[in-house]
Amino acid sequence: MIQSLRRTSRSLRSVMILAVSAVAPVTIAVGASTPQPYPGEAAFRDLYQELVETNTTLSVGSCTAAAEKMAARLQRAGMPAASMQILAPAEFPKSGSLIVSYTGKDATLEPIMLLAHIDVVEARREDWVRDPFTLVEENGFFYARGASDDKAMASIFTDLLVRWSEQKYRPQRGVTLALTCGEETSEHFNGVLWLLQNHPALMKARFVLNEGAGGLLDASGKHLSLDVQAGEKVYQDFGWR
Ligand SMILES: [Zn+2]
Repeated sequence: MIQSLRRTSRSLRSVMILAVSAVAPVTIAVGASTPQPYPGEAAFRDLYQELVETNTTLSVGSCTAAAEKMAARLQRAGMPAASMQILAPAEFPKSGSLIVSYTGKDATLEPIMLLAHIDVVEARREDWVRDPFTLVEENGFFYARGASDDKAMASIFTDLLVRWSEQKYRPQRGVTLALTCGEETSEHFNGVLWLLQNHPALMKARFVLNEGAGGLLDASGKHLSLDVQAGEKVYQDFGWR
């Protein structure tokens, strides 16, 4: 799924899904006016760019490489290496997922899971006006494969834990970050399914926040709505003879 996101006047972190489109590589609109940088925005942009520019297609990319880069950022922010794992089946070593446990004050509470996939659909250079694996900001929009689906969300979630760690913030309930692989090509390898089957304890959560719903901003960037979607569509073909 490819979604359009629009940047608010305050922050990329407030990015909201505007529309769902099956075709447009156009992803995040910056807005007509030039906003003042938000504290931490440059650091977020750097993380987002690194994730977007790491090719995670099935053919030549590596989710494992992207997971390693995000893990390194979290460790530089002070998170212990023991709090995170990169997990991949032996037969798909480049389809690694990063699972991070950010512990809360109350260890008896099940964590909230922040789930985002970091693999992207194939993108051939000749099909794109711009290099799909270079983050380009142009006329208020970001262009790149995965700039929206789902590396915006993955970056926002990762950046959140970077900030919490730097600020030594400790929520009451822990948070599990799951950056997974194999969402776009689940017929080949489904990362979430594999994790549930092979590492069920890591995937236990009170509830999960994942991609899917949308939201609306008005022309000035004011928040109008933020949808909450409780379930996801299921694709199915029907035929007859
Ligand atoms: Zn997606």
